[in-house]
Amino acid sequence: MINFQQVSKTYPGGHRALEKVSFHIKPGELAFLTGHSGAGKSTLLKLISLMERPSAGQVLINGVDLNAVKSRQIPYVRRDIGIIFQNHRLLERYSVFDNVALPLIIEGTHHKQIAKRVHGALDKVGLLDKAKCNPATLSGGEQQRVGIARAIVNSPPILLADEPTGNLDPELSMDILRLFEDFNNHGTTVLIATHDIGLIARMRYRSLTLKDGRMIEDPLAEGAL
Ligand code: ADP
Ligand code: ADP
Repeated sequence: MINFQQVSKTYPGGHRALEKVSFHIKPGELAFLTGHSGAGKSTLLKLISLMERPSAGQVLINGVDLNAVKSRQIPYVRRDIGIIFQNHRLLERYSVFDNVALPLIIEGTHHKQIAKRVHGALDKVGLLDKAKCNPATLSGGEQQRVGIARAIVNSPPILLADEPTGNLDPELSMDILRLFEDFNNHGTTVLIATHDIGLIARMRYRSLTLKDGRMIEDPLAEGAL
């Protein structure tokens, strides 16, 4: 599903963010990506979502070699990937409903379908009653759940999260992780980047660890077992 083969990324200016990183995440898996600040976690997620390109090596998503994907094809590949950020990047000029509807509007989905799917997504994250609210009036945890509803509204097979619990207290963080678990139980492949080791320890999932751009720990790596 997500396959990295000897992937390196050097940013313009010469900073090497990833160094020969290899791993494979199978369909239906849930895994954590951890490591210190600056270890390369965001860069790794950006390579999966085609926000950045590798300097060397191959990234394969669903068997598609991303090196072969041209710029104009990127939106089609991205439809398979829901992304959640720490700062949910909600548009404050629009309602919760409209924020969640945005990916469907961009895809050109019929408006009857939009209403159905947005309500379905808001129901999953427990925010149906907030559909008409302005996101600025919601709590931090609720705003994060709006971001999650937006990421899953078109049912992407892959869900990526970059420090999704960064601004939340431990209890709300567990709620958010339970949501990811729920999507995963319904077949979604989930990769969560976080430096919250305590949170990871409370869940029994595979954990990939980056240090200075290198993968130093992967329970499923060849030779590691
Ligand atoms: P993490 O998400 O683990 O904190 P990042 O992937 O954001 O790590 O960053 C890895 C390294 O790459 C850091 O040293 C960071 O400063 C550098 N970096 C990230 N983005 C850029 C960029 N656009 N240009 C130059 N250097 C960058
Ligand atoms: P319709 O087909 O019913 O005219 P639209 O596709 O124009 O519907 O818009 C559907 C909903 O999306 C509307 O509620 C509208 O306010 C909202 N919307 C339109 N453009 C944007 C945008 N750029 N960002 C957020 N919401 C938007």
